[in-house]
Amino acid sequence: MAKAQRVVTDSMIGLKLPDFARHSDRVATVLGQNPGPFTGPGTNTYIVGRGRRPVLLDTGAGVPVYQDLLPHALGEVSPGGRLERIVCTHAHADHIGGVPQVYRCFGELEVLKKPWPGKDEVAHAAITAIEDGAMVEAEGVTLRAIHTPGHAPDHLCYYLEEERALFTGDVVLGAGTTVIPDDTGDLGQYMESLRRLLELDLALIYPAHGPVIRNPRQKIEEYIAHRELRERQVLEALAGGAPLEPMQIVKRIYVDVPEFLHAAASNSVRSHLKKLRNEGRVTEHESRWSLS
Ligand SMILES: [Zn+2]
Repeated sequence: MAKAQRVVTDSMIGLKLPDFARHSDRVATVLGQNPGPFTGPGTNTYIVGRGRRPVLLDTGAGVPVYQDLLPHALGEVSPGGRLERIVCTHAHADHIGGVPQVYRCFGELEVLKKPWPGKDEVAHAAITAIEDGAMVEAEGVTLRAIHTPGHAPDHLCYYLEEERALFTGDVVLGAGTTVIPDDTGDLGQYMESLRRLLELDLALIYPAHGPVIRNPRQKIEEYIAHRELRERQVLEALAGGAPLEPMQIVKRIYVDVPEFLHAAASNSVRSHLKKLRNEGRVTEHESRWSLS
């Protein structure tokens, strides 16, 4: 009997989260104050660690009110404490764009991430390069970097060993699905990244957008099923034989998605088409696509 297919049907739109939330004695969120259709309630920045020298995981986009929230949150988590360093998941502006603002609060700190030349400049900071497998330690916490390209080529997730928890950045979100940009993203790599995350012993996920995920395995499987379903739908749309533009495919298969998101959906369809082209399954004729 065929296994029932679960797919992602929820959405970031209208979701609210508190400005500050303590999740455990090692992890707290400070909301980046940058809400929107793709960021949901805003970027979750995480204070990670016990004691007086925790690390900040992602910085948000540099929205002014965050500059007041962060020191207040740090005072709650670690009275009299200071940030040890900044650790980033990837170079998108809503993750590293807040580095100068954090510097204004606390002075210059080391910024750890996997380099992405040409994109890291948005941090206006020297980057300390780390790669897959790097261990980042602070009091009471050990973070292991896991290279998870696809959403962005530099993307690192961080596995918090003491909680069997994963900071997934933009690879897995607390609601809705992530965007795979058709220029700098790679859907084939993204699917491999998701499958790699399934190999971890996971108790929960701390995503960069949306609430904490307490069913990590199921969520990752849903993400994989969702993309597999979209891929089948793209292939079915092309099975009629006529070459189609990405937006024509969107109009056929994104019937459940509001129209203002169709441009983003078209980006996603192009990512599917590029993956299928790399696999030799579809062919591009100028801006139209057909089965190979
Ligand atoms: Zn991103």
